[in-house]
Amino acid sequence: MISRFAPAPTGYLHLGHVVNAIYVWGLTRARGGRVLLRIEDHDRQRSRPEFERAILDDLDWLGFAPDEPPTSELRKGPSEWRQSDRCSVYAAALAGLEAKGLVYACECSRSDIAAAAGHSGELRYPGTCAEKRLAARPGLGVRIRLTPSVERFDDLRHGPQEQRPWEQCGDLLARDRDGNWTYQFAVTVDDYLQGVTDAIRGDDLLASTGRQIQLARLLGRAEPPRFLHHPLVMKTATQKLSKSDRDTGVRDLRAAGWDAAAVIGKAASLAGLIDRPRRLSASEVHEVLS
Ligand SMILES: [Zn+2]
Repeated sequence: MISRFAPAPTGYLHLGHVVNAIYVWGLTRARGGRVLLRIEDHDRQRSRPEFERAILDDLDWLGFAPDEPPTSELRKGPSEWRQSDRCSVYAAALAGLEAKGLVYACECSRSDIAAAAGHSGELRYPGTCAEKRLAARPGLGVRIRLTPSVERFDDLRHGPQEQRPWEQCGDLLARDRDGNWTYQFAVTVDDYLQGVTDAIRGDDLLASTGRQIQLARLLGRAEPPRFLHHPLVMKTATQKLSKSDRDTGVRDLRAAGWDAAAVIGKAASLAGLIDRPRRLSASEVHEVLS
């Protein structure tokens, strides 16, 4: 079993990340597997090196040590574990899809798509540019043709799932008009090439699992990863924790004198894994997962 912890350096670690780390390290260690650390800085406009450094520091402090790479390696410079250093890998993956006739350039903005879709909920790309044969150039997005399919998978927590990615989102954006590789594309390529067998992540990503499974197949992956989606820590019943919530940042709790075991225990209790906050070290987290 190979899983990954994959923070985006667009802010500091907060208790939501700690809950994810509890699941990732807890489940993986319990099964004798390996945890990979991946810096998901595909969004070049929002990612900051200082957030990455802070995330690595906080992970070390919490005691969640990845099997690969050591956090010291990421601090040294370019790394295969940082998405912004993997442009050539994504370009090669895209070229493979292009050779199969599955790629086209797209000039639509988000508001173009919203206007065409004309309803609320997830924005489905209606295929506006699918047959335009636009020449690829900077300033255009790049999409991958999906086919109508039913993707069935067994979520390790939610059980059997059935999703229709093409109906949900339409042709999948691989690179946006700003030149950023998209989350869905970069993650699916990375999970495939880095041999991730188990993607352990929050419930907010459950609905996009089918498209990753279809994309993985198009990329040539024979067996998609298994998925487990866990509850998110909520600030209120309807509001997710966010990186800007200063009372839930690992950094802020550290500054207020908390120690690592107290922070992990607080996260475990917010996630409903333990009845009330108590000290819990990174090496004990498998004990609170049934
Ligand atoms: Zn378009």
